[in-house]
Amino acid sequence: MSGGQIDTVMQEDRLFPPTAEFVSKTHITAAKYDELYERAQADPEKFWGELAKSELHWFKPFGKVLQWNEPFAKWFVGGQTNASYNCLDVHLATPRRNKAALIWEGEPGDQRTLTYQQLHREVCRFASALAGLGLKTGDVATIYMPMVPELAIAMLACARLGVVHSVVFGGFSAEAIADRNNDAQAKVVITADGGWRRGKLLELKATVDEALAKSPTVKNCVVYKRAGNNPPMKSGRDHWWHELVETASANCPAQPLDSETPLFILYTSGSTGKPKGIKHTTAGYNLFVKKTFQWVFDYRDEDIFWCTADCGWVTGHSYIVYGPLSAGASVLMYEGAPNWPKEDRFWDIIERYRVNILYTAPTAIRAFIKWGDQHVDKHDLSSLRLLGTVGEGINPEAWMWYHRKIGREKCPIVDTWWQTETGGIMMSPLPGAIATKPGSCTKPLPGVIPSVLDESGRPVQRNNGGMLCISQPWPAMLRGLWGDDERYRQQYWSKLKGHYLTGDNARQDDDGYYWIMGRIDDVINVSGHRLSTIEVESALVSHPLVAEAAAVGRPDELKGQAVAVFVTLRGGTPGDALKRELQAHVKKEIGSLAVPDDIRFTATLPKTRSGKIMRRLLRDIAAGKELVGDTSTLEDYAALAKLREEEES
Ligand code: ATP
Ligand code: MG
Repeated sequence: MSGGQIDTVMQEDRLFPPTAEFVSKTHITAAKYDELYERAQADPEKFWGELAKSELHWFKPFGKVLQWNEPFAKWFVGGQTNASYNCLDVHLATPRRNKAALIWEGEPGDQRTLTYQQLHREVCRFASALAGLGLKTGDVATIYMPMVPELAIAMLACARLGVVHSVVFGGFSAEAIADRNNDAQAKVVITADGGWRRGKLLELKATVDEALAKSPTVKNCVVYKRAGNNPPMKSGRDHWWHELVETASANCPAQPLDSETPLFILYTSGSTGKPKGIKHTTAGYNLFVKKTFQWVFDYRDEDIFWCTADCGWVTGHSYIVYGPLSAGASVLMYEGAPNWPKEDRFWDIIERYRVNILYTAPTAIRAFIKWGDQHVDKHDLSSLRLLGTVGEGINPEAWMWYHRKIGREKCPIVDTWWQTETGGIMMSPLPGAIATKPGSCTKPLPGVIPSVLDESGRPVQRNNGGMLCISQPWPAMLRGLWGDDERYRQQYWSKLKGHYLTGDNARQDDDGYYWIMGRIDDVINVSGHRLSTIEVESALVSHPLVAEAAAVGRPDELKGQAVAVFVTLRGGTPGDALKRELQAHVKKEIGSLAVPDDIRFTATLPKTRSGKIMRRLLRDIAAGKELVGDTSTLEDYAALAKLREEEES
């Protein structure tokens, strides 16, 4: 194999069409999907232009749909809209006015529900308060909060004024907050006194205080009282949220903003290195997340939709806040950990709120599998009608567990592939239209034109892996890296002219389905055969004793690279016998080429704070190298230290 192609060794032929019952109620049938896809492909500007007119509120109509000067896009040029208006005000003249917008549960069990009208009022008051602090269109606000409704309120209040928000995940360190404050030149930090995680108090304000000592551009800090832990307040700089809104006007009209007004900056999760400040703008992003939410989740007005992501990640931006609220959905928001007070918290929540759609991450699913079925069996999950995954590839056997155990073999699963950079879902089954295959994100959404290319930019043949690119601009595409056009061009647009480089590998099968094969940098090269990480991992996870696996290449004198794997178990005893058994299992499943030379058992794998396996660090460990590079996004440093100890002993 040459030219950057990747061999595929995985055999996965199972096909799951949606049930007749699901199809009978779907908004988008197979025929409708084909029709939409073809229409978008034939004339993308007409397609998006018509949708933008009917789906968003315009203070001033736009002229040109797309102005494309690679790599810089402008969508809906000359128009004026407002994302906060599209999420809130548009519903106030409809019966959705009194519908639940946010249904929230705190980790200690406290509950709140905000209707669209109530949410609108809270957003207006907080926006007035921010305006009172002197914030205006173009200023940057860092938001560092627990998963409370005020996090969404703060985002929407910023959007109302044209203040650019930069949400920093509430588990990050002072150093990480300061870096992001400085990179974005933030003027204000919005935070809380504290938050709850696994029963423990997180002293958020104390962390912010430390960050602010190194953040010269930040003049004000607003503190929402969540935990009651009475942090010190610095007079002149720090303000209590409740005091500010007490006197703030509830009358705060949404600012008409140019389509390309920056809406937010979001730093990527950092699986591959230093996080990048991804820039998204208003109209195109808003339209894309609204439509993709409706298409992918086949949303119905009576549904309760639960996305378990944190608003600190793009998934929370697009599918807790902007997508669902634009669509008038009822969104469930949960503050805490999935295993608090016990490992059945998610199933308990689904049962009590009668959740209809669950959107979660493969890392959570693997944890549920490891914790055992008894936690699921206690609960009535019959309200669920649709399941989704996001963030990493899902191994087919984990998919099967999700399908059988949570979906009771009747809920379709939407495996959604996308990135912080893409703003919204790019590839996913539309659940009433496309039969699913475990481990495949299936097909592109209307208006998305993927291609799988080799090093010279030629399409690879079906069933061969290559670089996944997007070959036509789409409305929610990133508009750049904050303050760094050159790095933007370099990273995404310099390798293959005319194509956005995703950094992932993929292959397309005979039915035209896409299979993500992992990151370009993670390919394992064994004797000239280029193997995909996820295929080796999936083979291991299909063994009944394996909970999760990470595969990396390590230098090998004979083969160039050898396969090294890190495995966590759901049962059995680590040792040489099990190693041999797993090697035999991989050989049987995907062939001798992929058989790991090294197998290391471990209690946990190093992950980013959003739960993604950090193969980059594992590669260094497997090679016996000193760890280099940025580890600030690592969730659990102890996991890494432990792995290194195991290696040394
Ligand atoms: P960084 O770019 O800093 O390394 P990151 O890529 O982990 O961080 P995100 O934008 O959160 O940051 O993640 C997007 C990546 O997650 C995708 O490029 C892909 O590698 C992976 N991913 C997301 N969804 C899926 C999916 N459904 N199947 C396979 N991989 C997925
Ligand atoms: Mg990335």
